[in-house]
Amino acid sequence: MNLKLTYILCSLGGIFIGLSFNGGGWMLLALVGLLAFVFAYLYNSSRESSDSPIPSIIQRNADTTSLKTARVTTRTAVIEAIENEYVPEEPLVDYRKTQYWKTVDNDLSRALGDELSLLAGIIPNVHSAVFFMLRSKDETFFPVKAVGEGASKINRQAQIGSSSGSLFSRLLRPEESQILEGDLNGAKTLQIYNQDLPVRSVIAVPVYNHRKNRNGFLMLDSLQMNAFQNVSPKTLARAASVIQTLCSKLYAAANNYIQQEQYAVLYRYQKNFFQSMSVKDVYRHIGEFIKSNIVFDRMMLISKDLQDDDKIKVVLCEGEDCDYFQGREFSINQTGLLILALEKNYAIERKFTPKEYVARFEPSERPNESFRYLYALPSGMTPNFAIVLERSIPESYSEHDKSILQTITSTAGFALERVLQFEKGKDLAMRDGLTGLINHRTMHEKLYAENLRAERQKVNIGLLMMDIDKFKSINDTYGHPAGDEILKGIAKTIMSEVRSEIDLVARYGGEEFVVALIDTSESGLKETAERIRKTIEATSYNIKQKLPLNVTVSIGAYLKHPNGKYSMAECLKFADTALYKAKEGGRNQVKEYLESEPDVLVQDSE
Ligand code: GH3
Ligand code: MG
Ligand code: MG
Repeated sequence: MNLKLTYILCSLGGIFIGLSFNGGGWMLLALVGLLAFVFAYLYNSSRESSDSPIPSIIQRNADTTSLKTARVTTRTAVIEAIENEYVPEEPLVDYRKTQYWKTVDNDLSRALGDELSLLAGIIPNVHSAVFFMLRSKDETFFPVKAVGEGASKINRQAQIGSSSGSLFSRLLRPEESQILEGDLNGAKTLQIYNQDLPVRSVIAVPVYNHRKNRNGFLMLDSLQMNAFQNVSPKTLARAASVIQTLCSKLYAAANNYIQQEQYAVLYRYQKNFFQSMSVKDVYRHIGEFIKSNIVFDRMMLISKDLQDDDKIKVVLCEGEDCDYFQGREFSINQTGLLILALEKNYAIERKFTPKEYVARFEPSERPNESFRYLYALPSGMTPNFAIVLERSIPESYSEHDKSILQTITSTAGFALERVLQFEKGKDLAMRDGLTGLINHRTMHEKLYAENLRAERQKVNIGLLMMDIDKFKSINDTYGHPAGDEILKGIAKTIMSEVRSEIDLVARYGGEEFVVALIDTSESGLKETAERIRKTIEATSYNIKQKLPLNVTVSIGAYLKHPNGKYSMAECLKFADTALYKAKEGGRNQVKEYLESEPDVLVQDSE
């Protein structure tokens, strides 16, 4: 609404109020003029002050780390009441940026206070002027603003319900939409005060929202008898309506602003996603965005395990019970709600009755009955992941929230796919395509890093260089593909004989393998080498449509001591020399290179 229109409307409202007063004459008209002016002024100034915090929000959003999580944001009573009632069809967004909402709340509170003061000023003998609003969750009214002598005695926690049988509960009956009690029988104590006050007159009118639903009321009381005999409830109703309009406009403007901000932040995050180079980064960005923009009591990102298709992993968890869920894996064969969501690619929205708990992953998981609402949104991409949000209040996310979440999920899905392609490419460059072992170059890189660590920690690295015996003849006899199968089989056998998480195994050349045993001893080196040799010798490799084949390997070993005088490249050469000697010695054996006996050069390991 532009400024001129506001002035005109407020002035008209003022004139209406004036005309409705019964016989106030010119004095009253003058007051009404003043009222109209102040209304226009208030509306204008509250608009201005609601504009002023906007730049600071933009700055705060630029640094997302400074945004508090939605959970810790305090919501003030006025905002809560207004959001419940003024835009009921679309529960308003929950992006609670504490500071911003506080400013809006202050504006509202000031405007309400000024308008109530205005009424109390033009109507004589007002003791308190109070604006009540409906709290939709328990259908009670509570005082949001009070002015006048009695204001300080009002119990802010007072709740007026329809069943209370109080004076005000009459306002909730459709046939009786106003109260005008000029002379209460005796001095009545109103339940809104926290002390006995001899209230003698009350006038109250309901406040309706744009949908004609009663969502509040305005009350004036007086300690004088018949104080409001000359005040028309209609006049008061119009004043209430103006107050209501002001509140809703201010709130709606603030809310629109927050929504726009959401999309601006989302846009920035979309850029982040596409700059992410790892799966972890993408998940981290999703988590950050949700944390600062959506209210939840627990957030989880769940994903199918990239290595193991039968598993679902909680890749990120924030909030309740995350010490239990973070990083945990669950079998896809379980019947949990979330497994279903991910497997079938269904979005799930569920409300739970108090104490109801439905297994999220599996029946034996740690339950939490305090959650009353769950919203799970799968990405629908491969690999599939889902955002899961839970709240302890049974309240759905707004359409706006959902649309923000959908945008972030699908963007993240694309980004994730792209990152995975990248990681796959990286992996291809690092590994040998046939056996899956790391390749020659990667082995050198990893040995460099391991060597630094071994020197620091004063541990040995055992090096084994191995070569398949007479492999050429196998290729010649059974064909190259059969040779390939044997290479794969031997790679597996070696891996099974070492500590796969610690030791390094590389396909070093055509049919040569290098093993680095981290932190081993002289005897450990020999034993492992022998074990590998014997296991390969004893293993029959099944080649398609051919008889099982047995092959042997020759192994050269060298134990690199920390702070030894030889470089890693030299040490590998020593292992290679020992391998050469093993071949010379008749194959299918282990030889170790010993610096202490340079003349002997190599020794049998047994
Ligand atoms: P030895 O080592 O016992 O002296 O005899 P060898 O026959 O194994 O001799 P050498 O190590 O020189 O032979 C290497 C053979 O390995 C040559 C090549 O045909 C085979 N080879 C290398 N890379 C591959 C591969 O990727 N697939 C297959 N099938 N064979 C390969
Ligand atoms: Mg060879
Ligand atoms: Mg060979």
